[in-house]
Amino acid sequence: MREARFEIPVFNETLEVSRFIGEAGVDGGNTVLFIGGVHGNETAGIGALNKVFTELNSGKYEFAGKAIDIIGNLEATRLSQRYLYKDMNRIWTRELIDDLHYDRLDTRHTEYAELKEVYDILQDVIANTTGKLFVVDLHTTSSPTIPFIVTNNLDQSISFTRSFPMPVISGLTGFLDGTLLSYVNDLGHTGLAYEAGQHYSSQSLVKHESFVWLSLHSTGVCTSISGPEIRRHHDVLQEELVTRTNYFKLISRYKIREGEEFKMNPGYANFQKIYAGEELATNQDGPITSPYDGYIFMPLYQSLGDDGFFIVKPDSHN
Ligand SMILES: [Zn+2]
Repeated sequence: MREARFEIPVFNETLEVSRFIGEAGVDGGNTVLFIGGVHGNETAGIGALNKVFTELNSGKYEFAGKAIDIIGNLEATRLSQRYLYKDMNRIWTRELIDDLHYDRLDTRHTEYAELKEVYDILQDVIANTTGKLFVVDLHTTSSPTIPFIVTNNLDQSISFTRSFPMPVISGLTGFLDGTLLSYVNDLGHTGLAYEAGQHYSSQSLVKHESFVWLSLHSTGVCTSISGPEIRRHHDVLQEELVTRTNYFKLISRYKIREGEEFKMNPGYANFQKIYAGEELATNQDGPITSPYDGYIFMPLYQSLGDDGFFIVKPDSHN
C-alpha cells in the first residue's frame, strides 16, 4: 500500500492528508466507515472528517464501536480533479470486482489502483467488524442544492436514513450503476451517499460535520454525544428542507446522446415539482418534455456530463 501523504487546500485551511484520515473507538460493536474524496474535487467531506476526528480523539467521548475514515480517490484528491481515468463512483461493478479477484485488473489506470486499495481496506474492515457495518460516502455537487441522501430500498438502509432530516433518493439500479454504495449494499451492509451542497460552499463543510456526528450517534458507535448537540446537528441539516415528502424513487433519466445540443431550460432547482408535458429542456430538434408528473432531480446546468436531468417520484416510506 502506498504511504502517500500530501497537502490539499480545504476552504481556507491546508490539510496534510493520506489514505487514512482517522480512527476512533473500540473493538466489538458496530463500525462506521466514512469515505470522503471518492471524487477528488470534493474536499468538504475530507475537511469535515478531519475536524470531527480531531474532536473524537480529544478524550471527551465514549464509544461502543469503531469509526474509521478514509479518502476514496487519493490520487484525484491530490490533483483536485474529479477523476483521472474513470469515475471512482461508477467502477464498483461485478465485472471489475471479478477482474480484481482474478488479478487481471489493469492497475496502471489510476482509479483501478484506487479501487484495489479501497477494496482491500473494505475487506479488512468487514473482517474485523463483529457488529453491523455502515458505510457513509460524503459528496458535494457542482450546482447548488438542498442536501440529500442516496441509498437503496432495503429496510436497513431506509431505517438508517430516518436519522437525517432530508430527502432520500432510492432506485438507482439501472440508472447509475457501479456506485460504491450499491456495492456495499449488495454485500448486505448498510451504505448511503450524502450530498451536502455545492463543492465550494462553506455550508457544505458545516453540513458534512453535522451529518458525520449524527451518523456516529445513530450507528451507536459514539455513545456520549449530548442531546443538545444532537438537536443542534439536526437543526443544521433541517434548515434548508423544502420538500414535503422525504422519500423519492428515481424513475427516469434523460441521457444526453453524443453530439446532442442539450440545453436545460433556466430556473429549475433540485426537487422542483414538474408536470407531464412540461418543457424542461431543448436540443437541436426542439423541446424536450417531461413524460411524467414528478420532481426534477439534478438538472444539468454545466457543460460536463451526459445526464441531462432525472425525474423522481414520492416513494411509500413516508
Ligand atoms: Zn461526488
